[in-house]
Amino acid sequence: MSQVDFASLAAAPIRALRAYDPGHDLVALRRQHAPLPLVELGSNENSYGPSPAVVAALQSALPELYRYPDPLGGDLKRALGRLHGVEPRQIVLGNGSHELLMQAAQVFAGPGDEVLMSQYGFAVYAIAAMAVGATVVQGASLPAEGPMPLGHDLGAIATRISPATRLVYLCNPNNPTGTWFRPAALEAFLGHLPQHAVLVVDEAYAEYADDAGYASALPLLPSHPRMLVMRTFSKAYGLAGIRVGYAVGHPELVGMFERVRESFNVSLPSLVAAEAALGDQPHVAAVRQRNATERDWLAGELRARGFPTADSQTNFLLTRFGPDCAAIEADLLRQRVVLRPMAGYGLPEYLRITIGRRDENRALLAALDGKEAC
Ligand SMILES: *Cc1c(COP(=O)(O)O)cnc(C)c1O
Repeated sequence: MSQVDFASLAAAPIRALRAYDPGHDLVALRRQHAPLPLVELGSNENSYGPSPAVVAALQSALPELYRYPDPLGGDLKRALGRLHGVEPRQIVLGNGSHELLMQAAQVFAGPGDEVLMSQYGFAVYAIAAMAVGATVVQGASLPAEGPMPLGHDLGAIATRISPATRLVYLCNPNNPTGTWFRPAALEAFLGHLPQHAVLVVDEAYAEYADDAGYASALPLLPSHPRMLVMRTFSKAYGLAGIRVGYAVGHPELVGMFERVRESFNVSLPSLVAAEAALGDQPHVAAVRQRNATERDWLAGELRARGFPTADSQTNFLLTRFGPDCAAIEADLLRQRVVLRPMAGYGLPEYLRITIGRRDENRALLAALDGKEAC
């Protein structure tokens, strides 16, 4: 066979890219440990699962699977519009919000442009920017005085805005830190957003937030037409496997996504499941409540063991395990407890811990016991 330099076939930005690292190969791990179950706390999934209404809706949709889905997702957009008090044409649906985060870079940035994001932000933002040949610019997080990266310094991020900035990603509450910023800080940042740039506020964990200092950016949309707010069904709605996310913004800004969106990007079962999940807000409220209880408890237990843990408004905790972090993680893995290593995020002494049910959280703590605090 002749030697082919396959990388040379890829477009220049793709050559420089490394694929998104989803953490561990869970399918392989499950197989390796079967029939014993894993304690899966690495992917920020919802341990309580979706509303029972989702299962019923999916069953009734099965006979329709030979049909294409509604390419406009009209029913789901109308339901989302009612929930958020926006018009359906202000919404674009994605195959998970991951797809929309990628499309945002495709739509708004290109070679020579800058895409701005926080340090310690979701890994997808940099991949999205690099895939279109744009330059990644990271604004500093709050100085890690003390043991934790304390969250976004929106003022410091704003100083990195330049004439080449076309797109900004901010995550609130933030993955992987769990931290959040206040509406006043966002409004100040919006005051710095130049005419030539679009701001994406990724609110994948918004449904989990209950601190009085947190607020969604959605109410700011009418006065800020160059802002988009992204949400997902993968977290609080418990539908990570169904792949639906959405962006909300000015109808014409949202319309730019329609130019590149694959016509049937959200499958028929996905539309049906998301609409059913949306209709069961009491389930979401119960999930938020149970998660908040577990979050307080688990954070307290980790801190009591000497592991510094950031205050979180999400369904996960960022915890510092110190220089032995990799060994601790490997030991947990041997005990079938899966967390998310953070070395790829520049935080090699930290692990990200999805807040599970009490039995899962107990299993984690039991596996940790005997470990030295850092
Ligand atoms: C989980 C997550 C998403 C949502 O991803 P989906 O593609 O909708 O599953 C988006 N942004 C952040 C920061 C996340 O952690």
